[in-house]
Amino acid sequence: MKNFQFYNPTKIIFGKDTVAELATLVPQQARVLILFGGASAEKNGTLAEVRAALGQRSVREFGGIEPNPSYETLMRAVAMAQAEHVDYLLAVGGGSVIDGTKFVAAAAVFDGDAWEIARSGGTKVRKALAFGAVLTLPATGSEMNNGAVVTHKASQDKLAFRSPLLFPQFSVLDPTKTFTLPARQVANGLVDAFVHTTEQYLTYPVQALAQDRFAESLLQTLVEIAPRALAAPDDYATRANLMWTATLALNGLIGAGVPQDWATHMIGHELTALYDIDHARTLAIVLPSLLKVQREQKRAKLLQYGERVWGIRDGSEEERLDAAVDATRAFFERLGVPTRLSAYGLGAQAVEAVLAQLAKHGMTRLGEHGDIDLARSRRILEEAL
Ligand code: NAP
Ligand code: FE
Repeated sequence: MKNFQFYNPTKIIFGKDTVAELATLVPQQARVLILFGGASAEKNGTLAEVRAALGQRSVREFGGIEPNPSYETLMRAVAMAQAEHVDYLLAVGGGSVIDGTKFVAAAAVFDGDAWEIARSGGTKVRKALAFGAVLTLPATGSEMNNGAVVTHKASQDKLAFRSPLLFPQFSVLDPTKTFTLPARQVANGLVDAFVHTTEQYLTYPVQALAQDRFAESLLQTLVEIAPRALAAPDDYATRANLMWTATLALNGLIGAGVPQDWATHMIGHELTALYDIDHARTLAIVLPSLLKVQREQKRAKLLQYGERVWGIRDGSEEERLDAAVDATRAFFERLGVPTRLSAYGLGAQAVEAVLAQLAKHGMTRLGEHGDIDLARSRRILEEAL
């Protein structure tokens, strides 16, 4: 096992009817800015519950944070937070709203050009407003981690950043708030959580036995609940399992002391920045191809994954490796999430465009060994055509 530090200060309030807890979670004297996305939180009544729970506090609202939140939109929220002397932020939504809120929390009190927050990967964040979240879409883990991803639309830069100052103080996870999700977003959430887990697990063995089995249990749970999560929107037990599994997939726990490979996310971010493909859908395109191209580096863990997650025990080692990759691709396809660039009408030109973006963003030594250079990324993308 590698050396590690583990720190996660986010309080989780989980279960039915927990939005009302905001009444005590948010400081009484706070000047609050509620941030949300499009119409979903208003339509399904979540915002009404939030407003009621906040009672007599001074509250402002900023709506319109889009999927893959843009710097341009978020800077309008920053201006509002500053003009209204807000000192507490409350995100109500999915990963985009929570990520956007993290950016606003840092940018509202940042000295200098706020885009530097993203460009520096978060290292320039010295202070941030306090914030909490009400999660409506299980997927990203943003509700219990200190990372975020924002997009500068004008320059097509989608950049990730993190800071110890950007953990939510609390997150309210009420599974009933996910009942109104369209099937497409449920499938996206399953894929995002699955890939977060593989990126901290499908690397090389370091004798981290508990982390391995913890990761495998998250993957198995996602596979087990996927059909019902899609078919039965108001099955509380299924949604509760989805919600907590997605949170556990990226709250630092399974990543402690193990090698990590975020290449799928980094390549995927470029696909979203260029072609506006949903975040999780980019991951479904990249991961199966990446596993194929990185098969030798990941051999031992891929075999373990095949056996423990998919029950692949028969055949030669080479056959079992193939079967593990095929099972991954088939799982995404069963969820209705395509795994090929061609499904989006993209071909060889897109490969060149993504490579140019990776070069621009310095993404030239990706993977757990730092061996995914541009030539390797090219093979991964060509394999995904
Ligand atoms: P999202 O972009 O937050 O939301 C996608 C869509 O779902 C929106 O149109 C939203 O509609 C709708 N929606 C949300 N909750 C709903 C509900 N309860 N009922 C009906 N519709 C609902 O999706 P996401 O997958 O959670 O977030 C993706 C973003 O997170 C990407 O930018 C990605 O890069 C980032 N990400 C962050 C991390 C991290 O660790 N921080 C990890 C992975 C990915 P409305 O706009 O109308 O609300
Ligand atoms: Fe993700």
